[in-house]
Amino acid sequence: MNTLVLFKNNLRIQDNPVLYNAVKNNHIIPVYILDEHYTSKNLGSASKYWLHNALQSLNSSLNNKLLFFKGETQSIIDKLIDQFDVKDIYCEEAFLQDDIKLLEKLKLFLASRNISLHIFNCTLLWEPYSVLKDDGTPYKVFTPFYRKGCVDRIVPPQPLGKPSNISYANIENKTHISDLNLLGKFQWYNKLNSIWEISEKKALQIFYDFVESPIYSYKKGRDYPAQNFNSRLSPYIRFGMISVNRIWHEVDNLVSDKNTAHFKSEIGWREFSYYLLYHFPKMQNQNLQSKFDNFEWENSSEKFEAWKRGETGFPIIDAGMRELWETGYMHNRIRMVVSSFLVKNLSVDWKLGEQWFWDCLLDADYASNVAGWQWVAGTGSDAAPYFRIFNPILQGERFDETGEYTLKYLPELKTIPLKFLQKPWEVNSGFNYIKPIIDYKESRETALTKYSMIK
Ligand SMILES: Cc1cc2nc3c(=O)[nH]c(=O)nc-3n(C[C@H](O)[C@H](O)[C@H](O)COP(=O)(O)OP(=O)(O)OC[C@H]3O[C@@H](n4cnc5c(N)ncnc54)[C@H](O)[C@@H]3O)c2cc1C
Repeated sequence: MNTLVLFKNNLRIQDNPVLYNAVKNNHIIPVYILDEHYTSKNLGSASKYWLHNALQSLNSSLNNKLLFFKGETQSIIDKLIDQFDVKDIYCEEAFLQDDIKLLEKLKLFLASRNISLHIFNCTLLWEPYSVLKDDGTPYKVFTPFYRKGCVDRIVPPQPLGKPSNISYANIENKTHISDLNLLGKFQWYNKLNSIWEISEKKALQIFYDFVESPIYSYKKGRDYPAQNFNSRLSPYIRFGMISVNRIWHEVDNLVSDKNTAHFKSEIGWREFSYYLLYHFPKMQNQNLQSKFDNFEWENSSEKFEAWKRGETGFPIIDAGMRELWETGYMHNRIRMVVSSFLVKNLSVDWKLGEQWFWDCLLDADYASNVAGWQWVAGTGSDAAPYFRIFNPILQGERFDETGEYTLKYLPELKTIPLKFLQKPWEVNSGFNYIKPIIDYKESRETALTKYSMIK
């Protein structure tokens, strides 16, 4: 009799409650199923690239025993049960509505076949259903959620480490990662191979390097895109290549100060995003505040295309969008600036920006992406106030003072005097950079008027 271990968003060996518990006295069959049938949101191109590599790495840690399938979860599992004499199945707990529905259905089906399903939380520090206000309703504001609801009340489970011994079922692996067809024929992703090393080992190394020193400059340093004071762990965390429990407890064991506390609170924002999506699932593709449903977005396709290509004429915006395109990543400060610009200055619906990020970000996350966009657009919970419109010129001058970040992605501006870097249109000699696609001040006024009508 054998045990199936399903991997999904927990692509790691260490601190993986599903694997850790499954291997106790069992011969396991590790399985990954790419199921595009039940989900309302298929993975974007960058996520598929990351997933492909993460699975490859996991497979080699599992002695090439990981079976790959593409199709409907239930029918694949049904076949595996008969083929390999399976009696138990271990998998991660679901917190997204699509996954919850799938798991509910699977549970009933497995009960009818007399198979035991064992479920463990692998992705969050605090299960969203266990954090409620005194009156039993969910929190809508981050700080009380994080402080009163989580940190002061519940200590997240300690990381589990590595299972001491993994015993595999004696079966031949006839599947191959290419069966999932995650990488398209056009090899756009080759440029990413030299930037990212995608393995659990690397995730741990990045984390330990980060807590060695950069974390102690995090609170202030995290705002400066040219500096290395943020962890860049997001795609690893997104795919569960490092556990948030480990991050949490290891940071707790450091000498604590405002920086370590701030870093933990950012992990808390990730929790809050999942929490909101769990309690308010409509937020996945609708305004959380429905008063925005009739907001008149301009949705100009020319402006949207210019934003996507990094050709708006505003250097910090263009640098950010090119960073995204070239590296599959964008620094948090810049994410805030470019998203505010799209929504507020270009008057493009946040949902379109969210989709572009979803396709291009290696860390594209079901919860954090939607929550980030709704925060910036002011349509979400505990969102940025409507009058907060990031000024791309001032943001660039303040957070990229030396121009290092901007020039890295816009080398064509190398010869411009620094004081004009974020406003090249002011150079008298007619510096040949893209003309701004909007008048910043005018677009700001229009946005304020439109938003104040909703308020
Ligand atoms: C419009 C917009 C879209 C975003 N989309 C995503 C997304 O798809 N996936 C994603 O992981 N993050 C998203 N974020 C949040 C944040 O920008 C990234 O998590 C962060 O930039 C990742 O870099 P890092 O790993 O160096 O973060 P660090 O500053 O080192 O933070 C450590 C970890 O905390 C979490 N985290 C940090 N900030 C946030 C935040 N504001 N919200 C949620 N989690 C956070 C991430 O898991 C991150 O890896 C978005 C933010 C905005 C404004």
